[in-house]
Amino acid sequence: MTTKPTPRIEKSDAEWRSELSPMQYRVLREKATERPFSGEYDHSFEPGTYVCAGCGQPLFTSDAKFDSGCGWPAFSTPAAPDSVAEERDASHGMIRTEVLCSRCSGHLGHVFDDGPGPTHLRYCINSAALKHQPK
Ligand code: FE
Repeated sequence: MTTKPTPRIEKSDAEWRSELSPMQYRVLREKATERPFSGEYDHSFEPGTYVCAGCGQPLFTSDAKFDSGCGWPAFSTPAAPDSVAEERDASHGMIRTEVLCSRCSGHLGHVFDDGPGPTHLRYCINSAALKHQPK
């Protein structure tokens, strides 16, 4: 299913650049993908909540995190159904479903239907788009 994000936080490019680290900016605002196995949360399973690195909205919880082996943090479900928005992404010669923060429209990653859990979903998310808040 494709849903249109409704931006509730809108900032100028200059504002985002000044607030985010270069890597956060590249991922969230330019839809870059961090190198696999390079992100700080790929193999971190500390209890807590992962919030958007751009706007602080809770996006995923540690309860839904699993080791997908693909090199990026993977989650079986968002923290809440409206935490994230989805859009069809036909870039790079693939049809994928892009996942965005529903509040600031920051790019998070993609969702695939090959997950191991009951949802069969694998939210493949860049560490740079997330901030972990310990429980
Ligand atoms: Fe956000």
